[in-house]
Amino acid sequence: MQKPGTKDHPLRVAIIGAGPAAFYAADSLMKQDGVAVAVDMFDRLPTPFGLVRGGVAPDHQKIKNVCRVFHKTAMRPGFRFFGNVEFGTHVTIDDLRRHYHQIFFATGAQTDRSLGIPGEDLAGSHSATEFVAWYNGHPDYCDCTFDLSAESVVIVGIGNVAVDVARILCRTPEELASTDIADYAFEALSESRVRDVYMLGRRGPAQAAFTPPEVKELGEMEDAVAIVSPAEAEVDELSKQYLENADRDTLRNVEIIQQFASAAGNGRFKRLYIRFLVSPTEILGSADGKVAGVRLVRNELYRTEDGRIRPRATEDHEELPAGLVFRSVGYEGVALPGVPFDADWNVILNEQGRVLDPETRHHVVGEYVGGWIKRGPSGVIGTNKADAVETVHCMLADLEAGIVLEPESPDPEAAERMIRERQPRAFSFEDWCRIDEIETNRGQETGRPRVKFTSIDEMWRALDRVRS
Ligand code: NAP
Repeated sequence: MQKPGTKDHPLRVAIIGAGPAAFYAADSLMKQDGVAVAVDMFDRLPTPFGLVRGGVAPDHQKIKNVCRVFHKTAMRPGFRFFGNVEFGTHVTIDDLRRHYHQIFFATGAQTDRSLGIPGEDLAGSHSATEFVAWYNGHPDYCDCTFDLSAESVVIVGIGNVAVDVARILCRTPEELASTDIADYAFEALSESRVRDVYMLGRRGPAQAAFTPPEVKELGEMEDAVAIVSPAEAEVDELSKQYLENADRDTLRNVEIIQQFASAAGNGRFKRLYIRFLVSPTEILGSADGKVAGVRLVRNELYRTEDGRIRPRATEDHEELPAGLVFRSVGYEGVALPGVPFDADWNVILNEQGRVLDPETRHHVVGEYVGGWIKRGPSGVIGTNKADAVETVHCMLADLEAGIVLEPESPDPEAAERMIRERQPRAFSFEDWCRIDEIETNRGQETGRPRVKFTSIDEMWRALDRVRS
Protein backbone atom coordinates (compact mmCIF):
# COMPACT_ATOMS: atom_id res chain seq x y z
CA MET A 1 0.00 0.00 0.00
CA GLN A 2 1.20 3.50 -0.80
CA LYS A 3 1.66 5.33 2.50
CA PRO A 4 -1.02 8.05 2.82
CA GLY A 5 -0.11 11.64 3.71
CA THR A 6 0.77 13.08 0.30
CA LYS A 7 -1.12 15.79 -1.58
CA ASP A 8 -2.53 13.26 -4.03
CA HIS A 9 -3.15 10.64 -1.41
CA PRO A 10 -3.89 12.44 1.88
CA LEU A 11 -4.26 10.73 5.23
CA ARG A 12 -8.04 10.54 5.62
CA VAL A 13 -9.24 10.96 9.18
CA ALA A 14 -12.80 10.69 10.49
CA ILE A 15 -13.41 12.64 13.70
CA ILE A 16 -16.54 11.73 15.66
CA GLY A 17 -17.79 14.70 17.62
CA ALA A 18 -17.34 18.41 16.89
CA GLY A 19 -16.50 19.90 20.27
CA PRO A 20 -13.22 21.45 21.40
CA ALA A 21 -11.31 18.14 21.53
CA ALA A 22 -12.37 17.38 17.95
CA PHE A 23 -11.38 20.81 16.62
CA TYR A 24 -8.05 20.89 18.44
CA ALA A 25 -7.23 17.47 16.98
CA ALA A 26 -8.27 18.55 13.46
CA ASP A 27 -6.17 21.68 13.74
CA SER A 28 -3.12 19.84 14.99
CA LEU A 29 -3.43 17.22 12.23
CA MET A 30 -4.03 19.67 9.41
CA LYS A 31 -1.19 22.04 10.19
CA GLN A 32 1.55 19.39 10.11
CA ASP A 33 4.37 20.15 7.69
CA GLY A 34 5.01 17.44 5.17
CA VAL A 35 1.83 15.42 5.85
CA ALA A 36 -1.35 16.09 3.90
CA VAL A 37 -4.40 15.33 6.05
CA ALA A 38 -8.09 15.48 5.09
CA VAL A 39 -10.56 15.54 7.98
CA ASP A 40 -14.24 14.63 7.91
CA MET A 41 -15.86 15.67 11.19
CA PHE A 42 -19.19 14.18 12.27
CA ASP A 43 -21.63 15.35 14.89
CA ARG A 44 -25.04 14.04 15.88
CA LEU A 45 -26.19 17.67 16.09
CA PRO A 46 -26.45 19.86 12.97
CA THR A 47 -24.33 22.51 14.71
CA PRO A 48 -20.62 22.23 15.56
CA PHE A 49 -18.66 23.21 18.72
CA GLY A 50 -20.16 20.77 21.26
CA LEU A 51 -20.24 22.15 24.79
CA VAL A 52 -19.06 25.59 23.65
CA ARG A 53 -22.54 26.02 22.16
CA GLY A 54 -24.50 23.63 24.38
CA GLY A 55 -22.66 23.79 27.72
CA VAL A 56 -20.84 27.08 28.28
CA ALA A 57 -23.22 29.39 30.14
CA PRO A 58 -24.97 32.06 28.04
CA ASP A 59 -23.63 34.82 30.31
CA HIS A 60 -20.06 33.67 29.54
CA GLN A 61 -19.87 34.92 25.96
CA LYS A 62 -16.12 35.60 26.05
CA ILE A 63 -15.38 31.89 26.47
CA LYS A 64 -17.35 31.26 23.27
CA ASN A 65 -14.87 33.37 21.29
CA VAL A 66 -12.84 30.18 20.94
CA CYS A 67 -15.27 29.29 18.12
CA ARG A 68 -13.42 31.78 15.92
CA VAL A 69 -10.31 29.60 16.23
CA PHE A 70 -12.36 26.51 15.40
CA HIS A 71 -13.89 28.30 12.42
CA LYS A 72 -10.39 28.94 11.02
CA THR A 73 -9.64 25.22 11.30
CA ALA A 74 -12.85 24.43 9.44
CA MET A 75 -11.75 26.75 6.62
CA ARG A 76 -8.60 24.68 5.96
CA PRO A 77 -8.66 22.88 2.60
CA GLY A 78 -9.56 19.24 3.12
CA PHE A 79 -11.90 19.85 6.09
CA ARG A 80 -15.53 18.74 5.85
CA PHE A 81 -18.31 18.75 8.46
CA PHE A 82 -21.25 16.36 8.49
CA GLY A 83 -23.74 17.51 11.12
CA ASN A 84 -26.93 15.68 12.09
CA VAL A 85 -25.07 12.42 11.44
CA GLU A 86 -24.97 10.08 14.40
CA PHE A 87 -22.28 7.48 14.92
CA GLY A 88 -24.00 4.13 15.48
CA THR A 89 -27.19 5.26 13.72
CA HIS A 90 -26.15 6.70 10.37
CA VAL A 91 -22.55 5.50 10.22
CA THR A 92 -20.96 2.53 11.93
CA ILE A 93 -17.39 1.67 12.79
CA ASP A 94 -17.29 -0.68 9.78
CA ASP A 95 -18.46 2.13 7.46
CA LEU A 96 -15.66 4.33 8.72
CA ARG A 97 -13.05 1.58 8.34
CA ARG A 98 -14.08 1.33 4.68
CA HIS A 99 -13.42 5.03 4.03
CA TYR A 100 -10.73 6.31 6.41
CA HIS A 101 -7.15 5.57 7.46
CA GLN A 102 -7.72 6.76 11.01
CA ILE A 103 -10.74 7.35 13.24
CA PHE A 104 -10.67 9.77 16.19
CA PHE A 105 -13.43 9.64 18.81
CA ALA A 106 -14.21 12.89 20.63
CA THR A 107 -17.75 12.33 21.85
CA GLY A 108 -17.29 13.89 25.30
CA ALA A 109 -19.19 12.77 28.38
CA GLN A 110 -22.82 12.72 27.35
CA THR A 111 -24.62 11.79 30.51
CA ASP A 112 -24.57 12.72 34.18
CA ARG A 113 -23.68 10.84 37.33
CA SER A 114 -26.43 9.97 39.75
CA LEU A 115 -26.37 10.22 43.55
CA GLY A 116 -27.82 6.80 44.36
CA ILE A 117 -30.10 8.13 47.13
CA PRO A 118 -33.85 7.67 47.64
CA GLY A 119 -36.09 10.20 45.94
CA GLU A 120 -33.84 10.90 42.97
CA ASP A 121 -36.66 10.04 40.56
CA LEU A 122 -39.26 12.37 42.08
CA ALA A 123 -40.81 15.04 39.86
CA GLY A 124 -38.66 18.14 40.28
CA SER A 125 -35.39 16.23 40.68
CA HIS A 126 -33.20 16.78 37.61
CA SER A 127 -29.65 16.52 36.44
CA ALA A 128 -27.80 19.79 35.99
CA THR A 129 -26.79 18.63 32.51
CA GLU A 130 -30.48 18.57 31.52
CA PHE A 131 -31.00 22.13 32.79
CA VAL A 132 -27.79 23.38 31.14
CA ALA A 133 -28.73 21.81 27.80
CA TRP A 134 -32.25 23.28 28.13
CA TYR A 135 -31.19 26.88 28.76
CA ASN A 136 -28.60 26.60 25.99
CA GLY A 137 -31.23 25.54 23.43
CA HIS A 138 -29.99 21.98 22.78
CA PRO A 139 -32.59 20.47 20.38
CA ASP A 140 -32.89 17.27 22.48
CA TYR A 141 -33.75 19.23 25.63
CA CYS A 142 -35.87 22.13 24.41
CA ASP A 143 -39.10 20.43 25.57
CA CYS A 144 -37.93 19.89 29.16
CA THR A 145 -39.82 21.67 31.89
CA PHE A 146 -38.58 22.84 35.28
CA ASP A 147 -40.87 24.00 38.03
CA LEU A 148 -39.52 27.50 38.52
CA SER A 149 -42.49 28.38 40.71
CA ALA A 150 -40.44 26.79 43.51
CA GLU A 151 -39.01 29.37 45.89
CA SER A 152 -36.20 27.19 47.10
CA VAL A 153 -33.80 25.18 44.92
CA VAL A 154 -31.02 22.79 45.92
CA ILE A 155 -28.00 22.08 43.73
CA VAL A 156 -25.90 19.11 44.81
CA GLY A 157 -22.20 19.60 44.06
CA ILE A 158 -19.93 22.64 43.97
CA GLY A 159 -18.10 22.24 40.66
CA ASN A 160 -18.21 24.86 37.90
CA VAL A 161 -21.38 23.35 36.41
CA ALA A 162 -23.16 23.82 39.75
CA VAL A 163 -21.86 27.39 39.79
CA ASP A 164 -23.26 27.98 36.27
CA VAL A 165 -26.67 26.61 37.26
CA ALA A 166 -26.75 28.70 40.44
CA ARG A 167 -25.81 31.86 38.54
CA ILE A 168 -28.42 31.34 35.83
CA LEU A 169 -31.09 30.79 38.52
CA CYS A 170 -30.00 33.94 40.35
CA ARG A 171 -29.58 36.34 37.42
CA THR A 172 -32.19 39.03 36.81
CA PRO A 173 -34.12 39.07 33.51
CA GLU A 174 -32.14 42.21 32.62
CA GLU A 175 -28.85 40.31 33.06
CA LEU A 176 -30.10 37.40 30.95
CA ALA A 177 -31.59 39.62 28.26
CA SER A 178 -28.21 40.40 26.71
CA THR A 179 -27.12 36.75 26.44
CA ASP A 180 -27.78 34.02 23.87
CA ILE A 181 -29.91 31.99 26.30
CA ALA A 182 -32.70 30.08 24.50
CA ASP A 183 -35.81 32.24 24.14
CA TYR A 184 -38.10 29.80 25.97
CA ALA A 185 -35.60 29.59 28.86
CA PHE A 186 -35.43 33.37 29.06
CA GLU A 187 -39.20 33.55 29.30
CA ALA A 188 -39.41 30.81 31.94
CA LEU A 189 -36.58 32.30 34.02
CA SER A 190 -38.07 35.78 33.79
CA GLU A 191 -41.22 34.42 35.44
CA SER A 192 -39.24 32.39 37.98
CA ARG A 193 -40.18 32.65 41.66
CA VAL A 194 -36.90 31.14 42.82
CA ARG A 195 -35.52 33.09 45.75
CA ASP A 196 -33.24 30.78 47.77
CA VAL A 197 -30.63 28.65 46.03
CA TYR A 198 -28.47 26.20 47.99
CA MET A 199 -25.26 24.72 46.57
CA LEU A 200 -24.17 21.71 48.60
CA GLY A 201 -20.48 20.81 48.98
CA ARG A 202 -19.78 17.50 50.66
CA ARG A 203 -16.27 18.60 51.69
CA GLY A 204 -14.84 21.95 52.83
CA PRO A 205 -13.81 25.16 51.04
CA ALA A 206 -10.26 23.84 50.59
CA GLN A 207 -11.59 20.88 48.55
CA ALA A 208 -14.10 22.76 46.41
CA ALA A 209 -14.15 21.85 42.71
CA PHE A 210 -15.06 25.34 41.46
CA THR A 211 -12.32 27.68 40.23
CA PRO A 212 -11.62 31.20 41.59
CA PRO A 213 -12.98 33.39 38.75
CA GLU A 214 -16.19 31.35 38.68
CA VAL A 215 -16.85 31.44 42.44
CA LYS A 216 -15.86 35.12 42.65
CA GLU A 217 -18.52 35.95 40.06
CA LEU A 218 -21.17 34.62 42.46
CA GLY A 219 -20.50 37.68 44.58
CA GLU A 220 -20.99 40.05 41.65
CA MET A 221 -24.58 39.44 40.61
CA GLU A 222 -27.03 42.28 40.28
CA ASP A 223 -29.78 41.16 42.63
CA ALA A 224 -28.43 38.11 44.44
CA VAL A 225 -26.09 37.74 47.38
CA ALA A 226 -23.70 34.84 48.01
CA ILE A 227 -23.96 33.66 51.61
CA VAL A 228 -21.61 31.34 53.51
CA SER A 229 -21.95 30.66 57.20
CA PRO A 230 -18.77 31.58 59.11
CA ALA A 231 -18.76 28.12 60.74
CA GLU A 232 -18.79 26.32 57.37
CA ALA A 233 -16.17 28.68 55.88
CA GLU A 234 -13.76 27.72 58.63
CA VAL A 235 -10.97 25.40 57.58
CA ASP A 236 -10.45 22.28 59.73
CA GLU A 237 -7.06 21.02 60.93
CA LEU A 238 -6.61 18.51 58.08
CA SER A 239 -7.34 21.16 55.47
CA LYS A 240 -5.02 23.65 57.18
CA GLN A 241 -2.16 21.17 56.74
CA TYR A 242 -3.21 20.61 53.13
CA LEU A 243 -3.29 24.35 52.45
CA GLU A 244 0.37 24.71 53.47
CA ASN A 245 1.35 23.20 50.09
CA ALA A 246 -1.79 23.91 48.10
CA ASP A 247 -1.88 25.53 44.64
CA ARG A 248 -2.88 29.16 44.15
CA ASP A 249 -6.40 28.36 42.96
CA THR A 250 -7.19 26.42 46.13
CA LEU A 251 -5.86 29.21 48.34
CA ARG A 252 -7.84 31.78 46.36
CA ASN A 253 -11.04 29.68 46.59
CA VAL A 254 -10.73 29.61 50.39
CA GLU A 255 -10.02 33.33 50.49
CA ILE A 256 -13.13 34.15 48.40
CA ILE A 257 -15.35 31.88 50.50
CA GLN A 258 -14.10 33.50 53.68
CA GLN A 259 -14.81 36.93 52.20
CA PHE A 260 -18.39 35.82 51.49
CA ALA A 261 -18.67 34.56 55.08
CA SER A 262 -17.55 37.85 56.56
CA ALA A 263 -19.61 40.08 54.25
CA ALA A 264 -22.58 41.83 55.81
CA GLY A 265 -25.93 40.78 54.32
CA ASN A 266 -27.42 43.22 51.88
CA GLY A 267 -30.83 43.97 50.54
CA ARG A 268 -30.66 41.82 47.43
CA PHE A 269 -33.71 39.77 46.54
CA LYS A 270 -32.17 36.35 45.84
CA ARG A 271 -29.96 34.45 48.25
CA LEU A 272 -27.38 31.95 47.13
CA TYR A 273 -26.22 29.81 50.04
CA ILE A 274 -22.93 27.99 49.46
CA ARG A 275 -22.86 25.15 51.97
CA PHE A 276 -19.93 22.95 52.99
CA LEU A 277 -19.53 19.58 54.71
CA VAL A 278 -23.07 18.41 53.96
CA SER A 279 -24.33 15.49 51.82
CA PRO A 280 -27.89 14.73 50.76
CA THR A 281 -29.09 11.38 52.08
CA GLU A 282 -32.62 11.55 50.65
CA ILE A 283 -34.70 13.72 48.37
CA LEU A 284 -37.98 14.17 50.20
CA GLY A 285 -41.31 14.03 48.37
CA SER A 286 -44.73 15.51 48.95
CA ALA A 287 -47.96 13.47 48.86
CA ASP A 288 -48.33 14.23 45.13
CA GLY A 289 -44.90 12.79 44.29
CA LYS A 290 -43.05 16.08 43.87
CA VAL A 291 -39.79 17.16 45.44
CA ALA A 292 -40.46 18.82 48.79
CA GLY A 293 -36.98 19.04 50.26
CA VAL A 294 -33.66 17.38 50.90
CA ARG A 295 -32.47 15.53 53.95
CA LEU A 296 -28.83 16.28 54.71
CA VAL A 297 -26.16 14.80 56.88
CA ARG A 298 -23.27 16.83 58.21
CA ASN A 299 -19.86 15.44 57.27
CA GLU A 300 -16.43 15.53 58.82
CA LEU A 301 -13.21 15.12 56.91
CA TYR A 302 -10.68 12.34 57.33
CA ARG A 303 -7.49 11.31 55.56
CA THR A 304 -7.50 8.02 53.66
CA GLU A 305 -4.52 5.64 53.72
CA ASP A 306 -3.43 6.98 50.35
CA GLY A 307 -3.50 10.55 51.68
CA ARG A 308 -6.72 11.90 50.17
CA ILE A 309 -9.09 14.03 52.24
CA ARG A 310 -12.58 12.51 52.11
CA PRO A 311 -15.96 13.24 53.74
CA ARG A 312 -17.51 10.97 56.37
CA ALA A 313 -21.07 11.22 57.69
CA THR A 314 -21.69 12.23 61.29
CA GLU A 315 -24.92 11.71 63.25
CA ASP A 316 -25.97 15.30 62.63
CA HIS A 317 -28.92 15.66 60.20
CA GLU A 318 -31.04 18.52 58.91
CA GLU A 319 -33.78 19.09 56.34
CA LEU A 320 -33.90 21.80 53.71
CA PRO A 321 -37.22 22.60 52.07
CA ALA A 322 -36.94 22.74 48.27
CA GLY A 323 -39.25 22.42 45.28
CA LEU A 324 -36.50 21.70 42.77
CA VAL A 325 -33.27 19.71 43.02
CA PHE A 326 -30.41 19.60 40.54
CA ARG A 327 -27.67 17.04 40.90
CA SER A 328 -24.42 18.42 39.58
CA VAL A 329 -21.92 15.78 40.57
CA GLY A 330 -20.08 15.32 37.30
CA TYR A 331 -20.63 14.02 33.78
CA GLU A 332 -20.13 10.45 32.57
CA GLY A 333 -18.93 9.06 29.23
CA VAL A 334 -21.18 6.76 27.21
CA ALA A 335 -19.97 3.66 25.30
CA LEU A 336 -20.06 3.82 21.50
CA PRO A 337 -21.19 0.80 19.47
CA GLY A 338 -18.22 -1.32 18.44
CA VAL A 339 -15.65 0.74 20.38
CA PRO A 340 -13.85 -0.68 23.48
CA PHE A 341 -15.08 0.94 26.69
CA ASP A 342 -13.69 1.04 30.20
CA ALA A 343 -16.85 0.76 32.31
CA ASP A 344 -14.99 1.54 35.57
CA TRP A 345 -13.83 4.94 34.36
CA ASN A 346 -16.54 5.55 31.72
CA VAL A 347 -14.00 6.34 29.02
CA ILE A 348 -12.94 4.63 25.80
CA LEU A 349 -10.18 2.22 26.79
CA ASN A 350 -6.96 3.89 25.67
CA GLU A 351 -3.32 4.58 26.26
CA GLN A 352 -2.25 8.14 25.48
CA GLY A 353 -5.15 8.29 23.03
CA ARG A 354 -4.57 4.97 21.24
CA VAL A 355 -7.72 2.84 21.62
CA LEU A 356 -6.92 -0.53 23.21
CA ASP A 357 -8.46 -3.95 22.72
CA PRO A 358 -9.80 -5.01 26.16
CA GLU A 359 -8.65 -8.64 25.66
CA THR A 360 -5.14 -8.18 24.33
CA ARG A 361 -4.49 -4.60 25.55
CA HIS A 362 -3.02 -4.00 22.08
CA HIS A 363 -3.80 -0.94 20.03
CA VAL A 364 -6.89 -1.29 17.82
CA VAL A 365 -5.26 -0.17 14.58
CA GLY A 366 -6.61 3.09 13.22
CA GLU A 367 -8.65 4.06 16.32
CA TYR A 368 -7.88 7.02 18.58
CA VAL A 369 -9.61 9.11 21.22
CA GLY A 370 -9.42 12.62 22.69
CA GLY A 371 -11.16 14.91 25.19
CA TRP A 372 -13.52 13.84 27.99
CA ILE A 373 -14.18 10.40 26.48
CA LYS A 374 -10.39 9.83 26.68
CA ARG A 375 -9.57 11.20 30.15
CA GLY A 376 -12.92 11.79 31.91
CA PRO A 377 -14.83 15.05 32.45
CA SER A 378 -12.15 17.38 33.78
CA GLY A 379 -10.45 20.64 32.93
CA VAL A 380 -11.46 23.69 30.94
CA ILE A 381 -11.83 24.04 27.15
CA GLY A 382 -8.11 24.76 26.66
CA THR A 383 -7.18 21.53 28.49
CA ASN A 384 -8.36 19.68 25.40
CA LYS A 385 -5.63 21.20 23.27
CA ALA A 386 -2.67 19.44 24.90
CA ASP A 387 -4.82 16.34 25.25
CA ALA A 388 -5.58 16.32 21.48
CA VAL A 389 -1.96 17.00 20.59
CA GLU A 390 -0.87 13.97 22.64
CA THR A 391 -3.19 11.74 20.61
CA VAL A 392 -2.23 13.35 17.29
CA HIS A 393 1.40 12.66 18.12
CA CYS A 394 0.52 8.93 18.36
CA MET A 395 -1.47 9.12 15.11
CA LEU A 396 1.47 10.61 13.23
CA ALA A 397 3.95 8.15 14.75
CA ASP A 398 1.68 5.28 13.66
CA LEU A 399 1.39 6.76 10.17
CA GLU A 400 5.17 7.00 9.99
CA ALA A 401 5.42 3.35 11.07
CA GLY A 402 2.82 2.35 8.43
CA ILE A 403 0.28 1.32 11.10
CA VAL A 404 -2.93 2.68 9.57
CA LEU A 405 -6.14 1.19 8.23
CA GLU A 406 -6.25 0.28 4.55
CA PRO A 407 -9.70 1.55 3.51
CA GLU A 408 -11.13 -0.10 0.43
CA SER A 409 -12.73 3.18 -0.61
CA PRO A 410 -10.62 6.19 0.41
CA ASP A 411 -12.17 8.45 -2.22
CA PRO A 412 -13.80 11.47 -0.45
CA GLU A 413 -16.77 11.45 -2.84
CA ALA A 414 -17.52 7.83 -1.96
CA ALA A 415 -17.62 8.70 1.75
CA GLU A 416 -19.91 11.65 1.09
CA ARG A 417 -22.24 9.51 -1.03
CA MET A 418 -22.48 6.95 1.75
CA ILE A 419 -23.20 9.64 4.37
CA ARG A 420 -25.85 11.44 2.32
CA GLU A 421 -27.55 8.15 1.48
CA ARG A 422 -27.80 7.34 5.18
CA GLN A 423 -28.72 10.88 6.27
CA PRO A 424 -30.17 13.04 3.50
CA ARG A 425 -30.42 15.89 6.02
CA ALA A 426 -26.70 16.03 6.77
CA PHE A 427 -25.55 19.62 7.45
CA SER A 428 -22.28 20.88 5.94
CA PHE A 429 -20.02 23.53 7.46
CA GLU A 430 -21.37 25.94 4.88
CA ASP A 431 -24.87 25.20 6.20
CA TRP A 432 -23.64 25.97 9.71
CA CYS A 433 -22.19 29.30 8.51
CA ARG A 434 -25.62 30.23 7.14
CA ILE A 435 -27.35 29.22 10.38
CA ASP A 436 -24.74 31.19 12.31
CA GLU A 437 -25.39 34.27 10.19
CA ILE A 438 -29.18 34.03 10.59
CA GLU A 439 -28.90 33.53 14.36
CA THR A 440 -26.49 36.45 14.69
CA ASN A 441 -28.71 38.73 12.59
CA ARG A 442 -31.73 37.81 14.69
CA GLY A 443 -29.70 38.69 17.79
CA GLN A 444 -28.67 42.08 16.44
CA GLU A 445 -32.30 43.14 16.27
CA THR A 446 -32.59 42.74 20.06
CA GLY A 447 -29.04 43.53 21.20
CA ARG A 448 -28.11 39.89 21.84
CA PRO A 449 -25.10 37.90 20.55
CA ARG A 450 -27.50 35.58 18.71
CA VAL A 451 -30.98 34.11 18.91
CA LYS A 452 -30.52 30.37 18.66
CA PHE A 453 -32.49 27.89 16.65
CA THR A 454 -33.50 25.16 19.07
CA SER A 455 -35.02 22.62 16.72
CA ILE A 456 -33.44 20.75 13.84
CA ASP A 457 -36.56 21.13 11.65
CA GLU A 458 -36.49 24.87 12.21
CA MET A 459 -32.82 24.98 11.13
CA TRP A 460 -33.52 22.92 8.03
CA ARG A 461 -36.48 25.14 7.05
CA ALA A 462 -34.35 28.28 7.52
CA LEU A 463 -31.70 26.77 5.23
CA ASP A 464 -34.35 25.90 2.65
CA ARG A 465 -35.49 29.51 2.65
CA VAL A 466 -31.93 30.76 2.08
CA ARG A 467 -31.24 28.17 -0.63
CA SER A 468 -34.43 28.89 -2.59
P1 NAP B 1 -16.62 18.59 38.85
O1 NAP B 1 -15.74 19.76 38.72
O2 NAP B 1 -16.00 17.23 38.87
O3 NAP B 1 -17.45 18.79 40.22
C1 NAP B 1 -18.29 17.79 40.71
C2 NAP B 1 -18.80 18.18 42.09
O4 NAP B 1 -19.71 17.18 42.52
C3 NAP B 1 -17.72 18.27 43.15
O5 NAP B 1 -18.03 19.31 44.04
C4 NAP B 1 -17.84 16.91 43.85
O6 NAP B 1 -17.38 16.88 45.18
C5 NAP B 1 -19.33 16.75 43.83
N1 NAP B 1 -19.77 15.37 44.04
C6 NAP B 1 -19.41 14.26 43.35
N2 NAP B 1 -20.07 13.18 43.82
C7 NAP B 1 -20.85 13.63 44.83
C8 NAP B 1 -21.77 13.01 45.71
N3 NAP B 1 -22.02 11.70 45.64
N4 NAP B 1 -22.40 13.78 46.64
C9 NAP B 1 -22.15 15.10 46.72
N5 NAP B 1 -21.30 15.76 45.91
C10 NAP B 1 -20.66 15.02 44.97
O7 NAP B 1 -17.73 18.50 37.72
P2 NAP B 1 -18.57 19.59 36.93
O8 NAP B 1 -18.98 20.72 37.79
O9 NAP B 1 -19.62 18.79 36.25
O10 NAP B 1 -17.56 20.15 35.84
C11 NAP B 1 -16.96 19.30 34.84
C12 NAP B 1 -15.75 20.00 34.25
O11 NAP B 1 -16.17 21.09 33.44
C13 NAP B 1 -14.82 20.58 35.30
O12 NAP B 1 -13.49 20.40 34.90
C14 NAP B 1 -15.19 22.04 35.31
O13 NAP B 1 -14.16 22.91 35.77
C15 NAP B 1 -15.49 22.26 33.84
N6 NAP B 1 -16.35 23.45 33.68
C16 NAP B 1 -15.73 24.65 33.57
C17 NAP B 1 -16.49 25.80 33.48
C18 NAP B 1 -15.79 27.12 33.39
O14 NAP B 1 -14.59 27.16 33.20
N7 NAP B 1 -16.47 28.23 33.54
C19 NAP B 1 -17.88 25.74 33.50
C20 NAP B 1 -18.50 24.49 33.62
C21 NAP B 1 -17.71 23.35 33.72
P3 NAP B 1 -15.95 16.21 45.55
O15 NAP B 1 -14.93 17.22 45.11
O16 NAP B 1 -16.05 16.03 47.00
O17 NAP B 1 -15.86 14.92 44.77
